Amino acid sequence: MTELPTCWWCGSTADSREHKFKAGELRASHGPEWRGEAAVVHGSFGGQQQDARGPKADELKWPPSMCEDCNNRRSQPFDRAQTGLTELYNLHMLDRRRQPIKAPLSPTGKTIRTYYSLTGPYAQAARAAARAKAARERQRRLKSSTGPDDQGTADPAEGQTATPAP
Ligand SMILES: [Zn+2]
Repeated sequence: MTELPTCWWCGSTADSREHKFKAGELRASHGPEWRGEAAVVHGSFGGQQQDARGPKADELKWPPSMCEDCNNRRSQPFDRAQTGLTELYNLHMLDRRRQPIKAPLSPTGKTIRTYYSLTGPYAQAARAAARAKAARERQRRLKSSTGPDDQGTADPAEGQTATPAP
């Protein structure tokens, strides 16, 4: 009897296979079935190419390396974060910078580290400018509210307390 590998995350039996690519993203980019004109080929590190029949094809999953619970439940927040980043990227609201780094445990000896930053009105510089503008406007309001015109114009409801009905 061959011994099953252990989950890299929690150490229990690795009885499930993780997707190499998110199934939802594959479905979004290639559709639900990949046959004929819509065929998709997957290349492995060994150089072989195989037809992948759909987003859940075995070729698109790693060998068992995680338990069912870690793969389906525990990794959910990370899957959702990746989905959000992909949505922002597809809306051109996100920049990605990819940097190859050494990864001794990877079959290729390297991996890609990805840096994300928001773009346009959500970019760091644009947000800093908006904060600076808001601070200037607040200062202007504070200065003008200390003038004689503003005295005695407080909201008449201010300071009143609700009286419960008898
Ligand atoms: Zn696990």
